[in-house]
Amino acid sequence: MRTFEQISNLRTYLRGLRQERKTVGFVPTMGALHAGHLSLVQRARGECDVVVVSIFVNPTQFGPKEDYSKYPRDMPRDMQLTSNAGVDALFLPTSEEIYPAGFQTWVEVTEVSKPLEGALRPEHYRGVATVVTKLLNIVQPDIAYFGQKDYQQFLVVERLARDLNMPATIQMVPTLRESDGLAMSSRNVYLSEEERSAATLLSRLLSTAGQRVLAGVTSAQTLRAELEALVSAEPLATLEYIELVHPDTLKPIQTLGEGVTLVVAAVRFGKTRLIDNALIAPEGVAPPRPRVSKGV
Ligand code: AMP
Repeated sequence: MRTFEQISNLRTYLRGLRQERKTVGFVPTMGALHAGHLSLVQRARGECDVVVVSIFVNPTQFGPKEDYSKYPRDMPRDMQLTSNAGVDALFLPTSEEIYPAGFQTWVEVTEVSKPLEGALRPEHYRGVATVVTKLLNIVQPDIAYFGQKDYQQFLVVERLARDLNMPATIQMVPTLRESDGLAMSSRNVYLSEEERSAATLLSRLLSTAGQRVLAGVTSAQTLRAELEALVSAEPLATLEYIELVHPDTLKPIQTLGEGVTLVVAAVRFGKTRLIDNALIAPEGVAPPRPRVSKGV
C-alpha cells in the first residue's frame, strides 16, 4: 500500500494508473476505522482496479462546541487495517494541504442540507460538501462510496456531484451493524458500558417503525409519538429528533404506506450523540435499495 500526504504526489500516481485504463474506487473517511468503513473498501475492491482511501478529520465540518480535537485518531491501526483490506493508496493530507492560506471557496448544497442534522449543526454540511468536492477533484474516481449510515450526507454528496457535473458515480453502501443492531461508528468508543447497552435503542426504534408500517399504521404523527415514548422510557437516552421523511427530499411525510419512508433519528447517550436511519416500506411496495447516482 502506498501512502501520500501531498496532493501532487497522489495525482502523479493516479495519472499513471489512468493511462493504463485502470478504474479508481474512492472511500473518503475520517479514520478510526471499523468494519463499517471496511465494508465500503471491500465493495470498492470488488468493483474497481485501484482503491484509494482518504483519512482526514475535516475541521470545517465540526461546530465550535463539537468533538474535533478529541475525535478518535489511530493512524498505525488504520494503516494496518487498510493494508490488510487490499487498499492500494492511502491519502493522509494535513489540514494545510487541504486548506492552505488564503482558502475562501465553499460549496453549499442549499436544500437537502437544511433539515435534520443541518438544522442542529448549521455549518456541518458546508464543511462536508466543500471537503468532498475537493477530495473528488483530487482523486477523480470512477466510483466514490458512502455509507447509508450518514444518509443525509449521501444526499448532499449526490446533489453536489450532479450539480457540479462531476463524472464520478456516487454509490451508497448499506449500514454495517454490531450483532445487537447498533450501527458501527467511530464515536461508539465514547460510550460507557451502560450507555453502550442503552444505545441498542436506536436500531430498535428503526425496526419498530418498520414493523408498525408493515402492521398498517399510516399516521406519521401516531408512529412518531410511539417512537418518542420508547426514547422517553430509556433513562440514559435524550432525543434530539426522530423524523419520518421522504427519502429524496427529506421533507416530512404525513401519511405512511404510500411509498418508501426514511426514518431517521439522532439520540444522545450521555455526551455521545449517535445517528441512525432506515428505509421502510409497507407491504406491496418494492423493498428499498441503496441509492446510486451516475456521473454527469
Ligand atoms: P466517517 O469516517 O465517519 O466520516 O465515515 C466514512 C464513511 O464510512 C462515510 O461514508 C460513512 O457513511 C461510512 N460509514 C460509517 N459507518 C458506517 C457503517 N456502520 N456502515 C457503513 N458505512 C459506514
